[in-house]
Amino acid sequence: MVYTPARPSKGVPAIRINLYSDTQTRPTPAMREAMSRAEVGDEQAGNDPTVHALCDRVAALLGKETAVFLPSGTMCNVVAILTHCRAGEEVIAHETSHILTSEGAAHAAFTGVQILQLRGARGLFTGEDVRAAIRPRTRYAPTQRLLEVEQTANIGGGTVWPLAQLNAVAAVARGEGWSTHMDGARLMNACVASGVAAKEMAASFDSVWIDFTKGLGAPLGAVLAGSAAFIDDAWRWKQRLGGSMRQAGICAAACLYALDHNVDRLAEDHRNAKALARGLRQMPNVAVEEPETNLVFFDPAGAGLPAPELIRRLRLQGVHLSLLGGRVRACTHLDVTEAMIEEALGLIRRELAAV
Ligand SMILES: *Cc1c(COP(=O)(O)O)cnc(C)c1O
Repeated sequence: MVYTPARPSKGVPAIRINLYSDTQTRPTPAMREAMSRAEVGDEQAGNDPTVHALCDRVAALLGKETAVFLPSGTMCNVVAILTHCRAGEEVIAHETSHILTSEGAAHAAFTGVQILQLRGARGLFTGEDVRAAIRPRTRYAPTQRLLEVEQTANIGGGTVWPLAQLNAVAAVARGEGWSTHMDGARLMNACVASGVAAKEMAASFDSVWIDFTKGLGAPLGAVLAGSAAFIDDAWRWKQRLGGSMRQAGICAAACLYALDHNVDRLAEDHRNAKALARGLRQMPNVAVEEPETNLVFFDPAGAGLPAPELIRRLRLQGVHLSLLGGRVRACTHLDVTEAMIEEALGLIRRELAAV
């Protein structure tokens, strides 16, 4: 097994147009400037003022009592599930969710929970789906503890959960006495696309986090929010996992900068994603999913080029795309301009015309 990606090798051209992921954005000079001016302390000891400012700001944004700064979104999910659940309990989540597909089975390894997988188009499910998944309370059946949703649903297509549907699934969970957790890695994309405030989106959920390394463009960090009691317990797991930091205000400053400057502009990424989808749809036999936010999934197989081959050919021309769930995923973000979208479309058109 090779778990370590190859380092960029000579001969492969530099990436000019990076549609691989919104995680690959580079901190801008202004963000770096904000980081360099950050007032810092010892985060683990609870006295980094910039981290406190960030946590207070995110707690208010998400309508929760308090929040904790963590190095990554994955750690937010791990810490949240460890805090909500005990080994042997069951988490209910979509079959394409990040906790199932992309965290190295962290939840099996650390928490010992089992994840019941719900199906549903575009990464979403309904209150009825949750109701149908309720197990009898017997000695035989696993104890169900937590409902998890992903806003936006990544592999689902960057899909936005409508507010009513979020509230409906959470209401079923609450009726059963389960806790509720929102993986809000791209929650701000959902808010900008729908016009619904983050605290409304998060209202039915006991815990929710946002990632600063996706469209918000910071170099690292995510903030998990919830009740004071929940965050107190979460801190214990953060400490155990080695997620407590020191002069983390340097990074929190980048996150505060992102909240001030990089939220409203997500609309631009959504426009670019739509433009990309529009261009792709004009290419015969390319299956294109209509983007709702900044992720565009398409499958060029019908036009004669399997997704991995198109990705390989584009990469040789400096355009970086990813393969996710068997399709091509193109992701727009603050390092992608309208002109780059036009250029990428031209190159894809040329590859498909040549087959
Ligand atoms: C990226 C992502 C995560 C994990 O975040 P990291 O900061 O990369 O650890 C979790 N959930 C979803 C939906 C994501 O897209």
